[in-house]
Amino acid sequence: PPLYKQRYQFIKDLVEKYKPKKVADLGCADCTLLWMLKFCSCIEVLAGLDICASVMKEKMHRLSPLPVDYLQPPERSLTVTLHHGSVAHKDPCMLGFDLVTCIELIEHLEESELKKFPEVVFGFMAPSLVVISTPNSEFNPLLPGVTLFRHPDHKFEWNRVQFQSWALEIARHYGYSVEFTGVGHPPRGMENVGFCTQIGVFVRKYTQTSESAQSETPTEGVYKTVTYDND
Ligand code: SAM
Repeated sequence: PPLYKQRYQFIKDLVEKYKPKKVADLGCADCTLLWMLKFCSCIEVLAGLDICASVMKEKMHRLSPLPVDYLQPPERSLTVTLHHGSVAHKDPCMLGFDLVTCIELIEHLEESELKKFPEVVFGFMAPSLVVISTPNSEFNPLLPGVTLFRHPDHKFEWNRVQFQSWALEIARHYGYSVEFTGVGHPPRGMENVGFCTQIGVFVRKYTQTSESAQSETPTEGVYKTVTYDND
């Protein structure tokens, strides 16, 4: 399967393993991952965030309930919300999530946004599980036609040491453990370059006490909720 499908499957497998009830996808783009996660029965709340409202709206109709959903007993309720905003800003609508996914997001962030990202995701949102994926630049020589970066909008592409030292520092600072893996196996004989997409899975070390959860002074909302008719 294509690489993006392998990344989404990786998240689906993680959801099956940890059974989070509330999942937020940061940099959700056209909501394909959210749409796939709709079918995971453990999930009750899904939220998407992107800085680009138009890309979120492209296929958002896929997230609305199917006729068959109305025929089923309402044992399971699912709420899906899309927000327009930046991962560089804290918004209370992003609190209370069990799993936060950031798939191919960080390499699109400006330096100033990347600096604020850890405090927003790990300090403020502080979910029990965070998944971050990003290209592994060591794989690039194996990709035809890639000169500097895989995509013109990438602000950087990191090798494994760069990504892992960044991630380990965040984990240490915010009280998480992190394990590294990836998707997209290198061809035989080239195993030393590592996966095409590198992935960090962060697990919060301590269960959050209500005290620490409330220690944040309430922040005013800065994200805009995305709806069908509202432009
Ligand atoms: N996660 C999706 C996937 O794996 O298919 C899309 C990844 S796409 C390569 C990166 C997305 O991040 C784009 O939709 C872009 O608009 C969004 N993005 C870039 N900067 C952002 C920011 N500061 N806050 C939120 N989203 C951002």
